[in-house]
Amino acid sequence: MALLADLQAAFEPGRVVVPEHIHSRHRSDWGVALADDEQPAALVYACNAGDVSRALEICGRYDCAVVAQGGLTGLTGAATPVDGCVIVSLERMRAIEEIDTAAATMTVEAGVALERIQQAAAEAGFFFPLDRGARGSCQIGGNIATNAGGNRVLRYGMARDLVLGLEVVLADGTVVTSLNKMQKNNAGYDIKHLFIGSEGTLGIITRVVLRLFPATTSECTALCAVSDYDAVLAFLAHAKAQLGPTLSAFEVMWPDFYRLALEAHGMRPPLDENHSAYILLDTLGTDTEADQARFEDTIASALDQGLIEDAVLAQSLADSERLWTLRGLAGEFSRVFTPRIDFDISVPIGDIGVFIERAHAGLIAQWPKARVLGWGHIADSNVHLSVSIDEQPQPLEAVERTIYALVREYGGSISAEHGIGLLKKPFLDYSRSPAEIALMQRMKQALDPAGLLNPGKVL
Ligand SMILES: Cc1cc2nc3c(=O)[nH]c(=O)nc-3n(C[C@H](O)[C@H](O)[C@H](O)COP(=O)(O)OP(=O)(O)OC[C@H]3O[C@@H](n4cnc5c(N)ncnc54)[C@H](O)[C@@H]3O)c2cc1C
Repeated sequence: MALLADLQAAFEPGRVVVPEHIHSRHRSDWGVALADDEQPAALVYACNAGDVSRALEICGRYDCAVVAQGGLTGLTGAATPVDGCVIVSLERMRAIEEIDTAAATMTVEAGVALERIQQAAAEAGFFFPLDRGARGSCQIGGNIATNAGGNRVLRYGMARDLVLGLEVVLADGTVVTSLNKMQKNNAGYDIKHLFIGSEGTLGIITRVVLRLFPATTSECTALCAVSDYDAVLAFLAHAKAQLGPTLSAFEVMWPDFYRLALEAHGMRPPLDENHSAYILLDTLGTDTEADQARFEDTIASALDQGLIEDAVLAQSLADSERLWTLRGLAGEFSRVFTPRIDFDISVPIGDIGVFIERAHAGLIAQWPKARVLGWGHIADSNVHLSVSIDEQPQPLEAVERTIYALVREYGGSISAEHGIGLLKKPFLDYSRSPAEIALMQRMKQALDPAGLLNPGKVL
């Protein structure tokens, strides 16, 4: 095949993998697998922007689709290859190029694993706050291409807020190097935002400049119980006012989630199981004694004011980890809550309580034995739901329509942090207006007129 021959001629041996030798892990992310009767045309291991550019330029000549792959931990099928495409793998682009201590930035290649970035930041006396369970496998390029979130968005923002500059290769092979290190730079359009969260459909990210933060030395954690969702909101306002910028996580678990987490981990309940919601509160600071005192005062005053019904404060790192284990139940779902349908959605914070009640009621009305678990990073409006129906197979589409119709009613988002990929594409218009979608299509048309970059994803 001429395409393959051109790629092999352009790269050193071992850098272009023929279809029969592409490892099966490249056929899927965590959400969607390529159909058995379909296969990629080739896989190219890129080592720099020039390689990506060359691969794109050759693919353009043959009108061949290109799918960028990072760590393949995405949950929506965004990185799953399409039939006959060329996969561009970033996994050999693993250099940490520079840590600029004055600017508090780190410049890295796109294929560096998130965990390595966290470690390198710590070794240099800084903190890089992006985090998730998949930290050892996901790559910073993938994190940025999906505008990833996580538990610390409340304090540090999404991946978008942690990027100062990037280098990207456009569909026609043009390399745009925009490795800005400054927080202030209003010299025209801020082009990095076009590519952040674009899921490999507008360009392939090859290098990034990340913001670093002062290292934190103290962490305080508490689990608190409240009587209803209004109390969640009142306690959030109280915690923000009292703890200021040290507040780094405010994770809410609804009772069914809490009970299953206790059962799954064989834990004695830190708090009774009869409360309406449980909140995991976390601060990160730099003054251990003062941070602890302020944290204890915040909890004590919340109890005095009746904002919370009960609380348990971690006395050690081990205590803190144990409390966070409860919140980590989702990582155990395949063992304790399966089959199921998962949702990653956003709803305006004030409406989340009634949203959860209505979602539950709407599901029970159709499937009386439905089990619904709710939890999430409520302070940044992100709620996760997992639904299990006593039917096989799970009535996926009917459940999705039930939940996403409610999301639309509340002006929420069908994707808070995982992106659209393939799985959520049919529902994009539940969260985006025709004018918004038309503008996205114009952006795609302008940057990738032949539609070769990750076709069929997002739009
Ligand atoms: C256990 C687990 C926990 C998770 N927790 C969270 C969480 O808390 N919050 C959250 O937001 N997500 C979470 N995720 C989802 C996932 O980790 C993120 O979406 C992650 O950002 C994907 O990175 P990746 O390198 O694996 O990308 P991939 O899955 O390889 O790719 C994802 C998308 O990005 C594109 N892409 C990859 N690299 C590039 C590049 N260099 N240039 C252009 N496009 C590129 C791909 O084409 C695809 O569209 C979790 C996943 C798992 C498995």
